[in-house]
Amino acid sequence: MPDPARLALNQITTNSWTLAQAIEGCARHGVRGISIWRDKLQEMGLAEARRAVRAQGLAVTGVCRGGMFTHADASGRKASRDDNARAVEEAHELGAQCLILVVGGLPGGSKDLASAREQVREGIAAMHEQARAAKVPLAIEPLHPMQAPDRACVNTLDQALDLCDALGPGVGVALDVYHVWWDPNLERAISRAGKERLLAYHICDWLVPTRDTAFDRGMMGDGVIDLPRIRGWMEAAGYDGMHEVEIFSAADWWKRDPDEVMRILKGRHLAVT
Ligand code: ZN
Repeated sequence: MPDPARLALNQITTNSWTLAQAIEGCARHGVRGISIWRDKLQEMGLAEARRAVRAQGLAVTGVCRGGMFTHADASGRKASRDDNARAVEEAHELGAQCLILVVGGLPGGSKDLASAREQVREGIAAMHEQARAAKVPLAIEPLHPMQAPDRACVNTLDQALDLCDALGPGVGVALDVYHVWWDPNLERAISRAGKERLLAYHICDWLVPTRDTAFDRGMMGDGVIDLPRIRGWMEAAGYDGMHEVEIFSAADWWKRDPDEVMRILKGRHLAVT
């Protein structure tokens, strides 16, 4: 049975809450970690957010997100580098366990997947030194291949680990079950990653049918992902970090009272993950 002390909230799950409300909500429901989105962080202000998470003693399991390295022109790449530098700074100030990298898809009008992937490697390399100096681990999150054109051209855990191998220490992976549950090589890839490079574990479920490729995730237990099995693989590889509930759900969970969502996710974490 999973340890309730390992439960964390990715604040997108309670999207109608401000960051201040999400921090208070975690404290109220006994959830010990939170992953913070930068747009919500902007609204609250970095100093105030840092004060609030410390006051509640919450672990910041991640900052969402850096990345978006793929652009058609140099000015786009420059804007992305500047934004990633700010993201590292924010993650550092919050004492975050990692900065999540959603790497970007094909630049507009391009069909050149190989060069997009090369831009991703260059983009991470360009921010690597700053992140290491700030002690902010960079977590490459492979996304489901259906999101390759528009959100991330890194689509399997092994592909992310190849990048980690090329870039060296300070770069690891975020494993989100929604994106990788289908991969026949998943168990081996988790073992290949090892404790050092498994920086985050995101949980939710895959609904059948799925009505939207980004915003129709299910609550754990409502879909087809074998969550205890994947957690077992993570633990076998040495992962002892938090289990972060990340549910994008425009038609269902985002419409509910966030306190109800918190109660349900706590129960499901214990019962089915
Ligand atoms: Zn995720």
